[in-house]
Amino acid sequence: MVVSKLHIKKNDLVMVTEGKEKGKSGRVLKVVPEKKKLIIEKINFIKRHTRPHGQQRRGGILEKEAPLHLSNVMLLCEKCNKPVRIRHRIVEGNKKARVCQKCGESFDK
Ligand SMILES: [Zn+2]
Repeated sequence: MVVSKLHIKKNDLVMVTEGKEKGKSGRVLKVVPEKKKLIIEKINFIKRHTRPHGQQRRGGILEKEAPLHLSNVMLLCEKCNKPVRIRHRIVEGNKKARVCQKCGESFDK
């Protein structure tokens, strides 16, 4: 799968299609366009050991979402209730809207 352009944006609902989190879905919290990576809510948690800082904070384990590569996730169509491919449709003259290839539901409302 070749991704030439980021077609997933913040707040999109996506499903993981590859890797250990395959089949899970969640909202995109953050997009890192230069790395083509996404941080998805409650997906791909990594545990990070933190060191104590100063006298008050204790070291411990911090759980945090790790970014997933764009090629491992697909947009989830709420209407189809499954991950779908998208196509672009020109709306209002020159604006591009992403729509579900199956049902035509727009992802850009
Ligand atoms: Zn659909």
